[in-house]
Amino acid sequence: MHCPFCGANDTRVSDSRLVADGDQVRRRRQCANCHERFTTYETAELIMPRVVKSDGSRESFNEAKLRAGMLRALEKRPVSAEAIEAAVERIRQSLRARGDREVNARDIGEAVMKALRNLDQVAYIRFASVYRKFQDLDEFRAEIDRLSQDTDQAPAMKTPLGDDGHGEH
Ligand SMILES: [Zn+2]
Repeated sequence: MHCPFCGANDTRVSDSRLVADGDQVRRRRQCANCHERFTTYETAELIMPRVVKSDGSRESFNEAKLRAGMLRALEKRPVSAEAIEAAVERIRQSLRARGDREVNARDIGEAVMKALRNLDQVAYIRFASVYRKFQDLDEFRAEIDRLSQDTDQAPAMKTPLGDDGHGEH
């Protein structure tokens, strides 16, 4: 960081502390050249890309909507609230990390599917069947097959699908 007094780029941090309930880092700096002191505040940039829907319209990223979609798929599934929040946070971070101003709604849907797949396979199938709008039973079976092939190394999925009266199939 350049010194605001002399423009030298050799400044030292003499103190660093969290402020604003931990949302900000306040740093005391001193210029190695002119020895002036100054303070900087660092805040995480929380700007999310705009969402481009399939019809081309744009809307703001809506975290509540994302979470609601995941919760619907995870209803009555043995997944903790902490694990869900962590997954939501990971999706948010990955969208932000792309550094794009806009992101396709489709990409968000894919990210949710990937997250659900790691959390709970039943929730994944629920979400995928709605999101991908499986045309028929064959398509649905193909997805189940793909899923079980991918998890051959992991313990096999023992949970029968659609046994809880949700009628996703
Ligand atoms: Zn200076």
